[in-house]
Amino acid sequence: MNTEIRSLIDRLDAGEPLCEAEFEHLLENRDAESTEYLRGKAEAKRIAVFGRAVYIRGLIEISNYCKNDCLYCGIRRSNGNARRYRLSEEEILACADAGYEFGFRTVVLQGGEDGYFTDERMCGIVSEIKRRHPDCAVTLSLGERSRESFQALFDAGADRYLLRHETADREHYGRLHPERMSFDNRMRCLRDLREIGFQTGCGFMVGSPYQTNRTLAEDLAFIQEFRPEMCGIGPFVPHHDTPFADRPAGSVELTCFLLSVIRLIHPKVLLPATTALGTMHPQGRELGILAGANVVMPNLSPVGVRKLYELYDNKICTGEESAQCIACLTARIAQTGYGIVTDRGDFPKSE
Ligand code: SAH
Repeated sequence: MNTEIRSLIDRLDAGEPLCEAEFEHLLENRDAESTEYLRGKAEAKRIAVFGRAVYIRGLIEISNYCKNDCLYCGIRRSNGNARRYRLSEEEILACADAGYEFGFRTVVLQGGEDGYFTDERMCGIVSEIKRRHPDCAVTLSLGERSRESFQALFDAGADRYLLRHETADREHYGRLHPERMSFDNRMRCLRDLREIGFQTGCGFMVGSPYQTNRTLAEDLAFIQEFRPEMCGIGPFVPHHDTPFADRPAGSVELTCFLLSVIRLIHPKVLLPATTALGTMHPQGRELGILAGANVVMPNLSPVGVRKLYELYDNKICTGEESAQCIACLTARIAQTGYGIVTDRGDFPKSE
């Protein structure tokens, strides 16, 4: 292995920050041997912090209406072919109740930016879940909102918020989003969420159009600086009804490499092996766990809507009941030598 690459990995492992140019160099010069060396270090770090526990989050996809028009996303507003749905409050609560019975102690409510879910409605749903299940964490992933809105959701009892930054490079951001959307507002949201007290998640797609090792290095430097409690990364997967329909998908191998780097940058981070990773490889989520991920997010949405919440093509786990999904994922994780635990799985507090 290139000694320079080895020393960069060793420095990450020792908790030293790298600069953007060094991250770029690491990405540029990785090979099979250095990837395995890095993976071993990331796995050791992950076991030191979390043991072999894998946290589960029950994902409820509440709506595929979206006012935004992200060029990569299948539920963008200009996709006239998307059949739109929205769960009722009762349906959302029923999914959360079922999830609780299955052993979930975190539910994630995710959706497009749907104006129907006003602060009043969302706060009602969040506080009712917390009333029924006080030992359950509620994570929201509802896109960009005002600071006042985030504050209201936090006051209603929401614990965590996932908002991928998508790319830390302003120009790259502009090529993935319509002009109306702004990099500054995305970053403003992340800072507000953090200041309000949410466990905050950022993240990005691997292999999104126009991404380069330099923009990825910027993402890594951003994560190193922001130190999010959670970080969602998964391969970009094209959707047939978007402007990026003909773009190649992101690679599983690079995603796993980045999972390992992120584990070393920020050992305590909650890092999911995503559904998109599982979509790109039959053992994608298992490979993610072995690379340093420590969270999986089985789908708890009603089976009838899973296919409709189609951010990208060929999404997995759209045809099975939740119980089957959980059983399948539990068995898969067990095969890796790790094990799913029933736990809120909060970000570890500082000693
Ligand atoms: N609307 C919310 C949450 C839903 S989108 C929000 O904006 O945060 C959740 C994530 O799915 C996005 O942040 C994006 O990174 C990812 N995503 C969207 N389209 C995708 C695609 N084609 N391939 C892979 N991931 C995609």
